[in-house]
Amino acid sequence: MIKRIAVYPGSFDPITYGHLDILTRGLEIFEKVIIAIANNIEKRSLFSVEEKKEMILEAINGNKNVLVDSFDGLLVDYVKRIGAHIVIRGLRAMSDFEYEFQMASMNRSLNPDMDTIFMMTSKDYFFVSSRTIKEVAAFGGSVSEFVPPLVEKRLKEKLLKR
Ligand code: ADP
Repeated sequence: MIKRIAVYPGSFDPITYGHLDILTRGLEIFEKVIIAIANNIEKRSLFSVEEKKEMILEAINGNKNVLVDSFDGLLVDYVKRIGAHIVIRGLRAMSDFEYEFQMASMNRSLNPDMDTIFMMTSKDYFFVSSRTIKEVAAFGGSVSEFVPPLVEKRLKEKLLKR
């Protein structure tokens, strides 16, 4: 039973259709997916955890099979604490691979009960990252193809009124 739960961790700063594509495909395999917003990674976030949650909740539109949570500290500790065993990550390019390979190997050595599964990005989203979205939005470009409407709105509010 417990194996039917997967954790999808990340910074989600903000959530994009690339993330949502991985989520939707994850839900074909797992009964429940927990989106876990990492609270303490070295990357500086544009949005607070609360703001990220609001945008994610709007995007999942009441889907009962998705839970949204956040965690501090190590992912392996969080996964253990909630009794899950599987982590989902998305892969966009070779450049993702090296980092993800190191992280997955490190995590497995820290917690042998946890495993990471990787899903290849879709052709429509392989070039979409939260970082590029923020760059485009900061210069007033349209990102409506790549993020849900609320995310686009919040990006404009945050980046264009400075
Ligand atoms: P980013 O790397 O853009 O800051 P996150 O840390 O929030 O994004 O990413 C969480 C997970 O989602 C990572 O495994 C990342 O590779 C994956 N991901 C992000 N964007 C995409 C995308 N466009 N297609 C597939 N996977 C993605």
